[in-house]
Amino acid sequence: MDAVKFEVPPELFVTTESSSFAGQLALGTLEAGPDTYTFSQPVDWNVTVTNTGDALLVMGSARGTATVACARCLDDFQVDLNGEVEGYFLLSEDGPAPEDMDDDEFEVLGADKILDLEPLIIAALLVEAPLVPLCREDCAGLCAQCGANLNEGPCACSAQPDDGLPRMSDGRVSPFAALKDLDLGE
Ligand SMILES: [Zn+2]
Ligand SMILES: [Zn+2]
Repeated sequence: MDAVKFEVPPELFVTTESSSFAGQLALGTLEAGPDTYTFSQPVDWNVTVTNTGDALLVMGSARGTATVACARCLDDFQVDLNGEVEGYFLLSEDGPAPEDMDDDEFEVLGADKILDLEPLIIAALLVEAPLVPLCREDCAGLCAQCGANLNEGPCACSAQPDDGLPRMSDGRVSPFAALKDLDLGE
């Protein structure tokens, strides 16, 4: 198993040379916006590092399974995150910056020749994290009145006559509810 942070081996400083590396990274937790992803197992990663002449090109993948709370019902569920690892490390600070890249798309290899893949692996996983994590697409969420998890069946509230206002799928009153009292002159 290769370390996620390592000194670039001498043979990789020859143009067109490439080497593959693979290992596991214990991440613990990852914050993605308001959501926290917890990894009970290390993340598997593998990359190929290629010397392009000007830079070391890092390409590979990272795969892990994390637990996150559903945004609707708040229950924890598991999600597989399988992302592409990409990095571009200029070999010299003095050379021209890559023409078709923004400043945040490449780095310069330090004098210590240490390559740290961890930020690339984290970025690869974060890109795959859903904006709104849902335990399932049709998660029924929580009752807006009593907080019961509606995935486990209807709550007592649904047995009572409601206020008759049209509700949206997440339980909120529809913005069109106000229209129902409008006299449209029919
Ligand atoms: Zn849910
Ligand atoms: Zn309820």
